[in-house]
Amino acid sequence: MRPVVLCFSGLDPSGGAGLQADIEAIGQAGAHATVACTAITVQSSQQVFGFEACDAELVKAQATTVLPDLPVSVIKSGMLGTTANIAMLTRLFAEETIPKGTPFVLDPVLVANSGGSLGDEHTLVTAFRKLLPYATLITPNTHELRALSGEQDLHIGAQKLWAQGTQAVLVKTSHDFDSGDIEQYLYIQGEMVHKSTLPRLDGEFHGSGCSLASFIAGRLAVGDDLIAAVIKADSWITQTLIAADVPHPEDASAQLIPNRF
Ligand code: PLP
Repeated sequence: MRPVVLCFSGLDPSGGAGLQADIEAIGQAGAHATVACTAITVQSSQQVFGFEACDAELVKAQATTVLPDLPVSVIKSGMLGTTANIAMLTRLFAEETIPKGTPFVLDPVLVANSGGSLGDEHTLVTAFRKLLPYATLITPNTHELRALSGEQDLHIGAQKLWAQGTQAVLVKTSHDFDSGDIEQYLYIQGEMVHKSTLPRLDGEFHGSGCSLASFIAGRLAVGDDLIAAVIKADSWITQTLIAADVPHPEDASAQLIPNRF
């Protein structure tokens, strides 16, 4: 069967972000997505109204049912929602329920693109520190990088995350709306090994971060190395944004939904 990615992510009923973005992106990368649902959010394409996190034991039960069943070769996490869910995923790695060495793409979701809360930022940041040593790649935007590293400078921040145990960091300036083109810096073991520049398209996109991280996870599962996976993900995500669906054409500031097909 196709290589399998197991995602830990939340349900976004608008279909822009979360587990639907993961499933579509991983499918487009050539892999099969499985999902342990971490939370059910209540949101439109434009706004988060709230969420209810799944109990950590329920999330664990979903994962431990899939793990012995399917040949999971990569783990991806997005919205985890609670510190209990982050701690549970950390234990799955620490206790080797997820086999040691399994590549892990960690998208450290703290808030939605629209600004809506997807968990308490301070407690999530503290809990993420214990998960970092298991991450092959962490994909923070600049806000998440600064929150996780406690550093304003992006390069020093990326090095700090490496010092905390993650092997590679992909820093995205997509949320810095005054910064012209979008730049992405890939650090492996504290060294910047690749920089990409993506056009900043008009509009804001709901689920672009989830899609990018999941496509990378899918390409790692298919056998790409990190740099190749990031390069392919950059060109794929750009296409999905150029072709994005426009749910509210009358409102120029409304968020768009990446078209992943
Ligand atoms: N996961 C879920 C369930 C979400 O609802 C969201 C945002 O709404 C995200 C992740 C993060 O989305 P983005 O890719 O826009 O950062």
